[in-house]
Amino acid sequence: MTDCDCNEGCSACDPPPTVWKICPTCKGEGVGYLGNRGFVLTYEDFQEDPDLKQDILDGVYDQPCTHCRGTGKVKMPDVPRMTDAQRARHQADLDHEAECWAEARNLAYMSGDYWS
Ligand SMILES: [Zn+2]
Ligand SMILES: [Zn+2]
Repeated sequence: MTDCDCNEGCSACDPPPTVWKICPTCKGEGVGYLGNRGFVLTYEDFQEDPDLKQDILDGVYDQPCTHCRGTGKVKMPDVPRMTDAQRARHQADLDHEAECWAEARNLAYMSGDYWS
């Protein structure tokens, strides 16, 4: 049952299977969210983000992981169990996401925000 009437199948009327995975952001610890840096901080991280060291000292990152909300696990798309249609939509989503990211980076670059 679904309230979607697109008639062509979408993630609303044909939701892809999901599976619980250990949260890749906090490695299942449920704490210490460090954004997309993960847990491996490099010298460049501190150079790029002058506030990073202070944030860590301030305990900004001693908080429940926002990715998994402190549960240590996240629901991920279960690609092997997807039907062909579901997989195609999943791939289209990923492509779209990658495009959006590239576009956002380009815009930031052109407006000079990229290095600030
Ligand atoms: Zn639909
Ligand atoms: Zn997490």
